[in-house]
Amino acid sequence: MRIDPSSEARTFLISQGATEETLRSASFRVLNLQLGDALTVVWPGGKATIYLKSRFLQPDESGQLPVNRSLALIRHELHHVEQGHNWGFTGYWARHLWARVRHLSVAAKSSSVEAPAYEIQRAAYAALDEMGVTS
Ligand SMILES: [Zn+2]
Repeated sequence: MRIDPSSEARTFLISQGATEETLRSASFRVLNLQLGDALTVVWPGGKATIYLKSRFLQPDESGQLPVNRSLALIRHELHHVEQGHNWGFTGYWARHLWARVRHLSVAAKSSSVEAPAYEIQRAAYAALDEMGVTS
């Protein structure tokens, strides 16, 4: 699944600092096997696949991703796509693996690779709160 260029979800993600390039290079898939809610896999060449638990990737009746609170998590994962663009395939995985080893945690929330993504996610939740988006 991709986010349609004319969708309100895309407009929201752009308003939260996601770039067109990031949105173009990311695709979304349901995966319920990972430990956390989401997992971003950066591929060689800059494309990325964002795997989300099914409850976060619920298209509306027109097949679009609606504006809902899942967008905050998606914005977090799009930051990882941006990291992949900035650091390259090898640099991305080296930094993320090292963060997990160093913090002895799969989530590594306080690590240098995750902390900025959580900050962006908090800002997106605040924006959704301001818009009155509660579900
Ligand atoms: Zn993350």
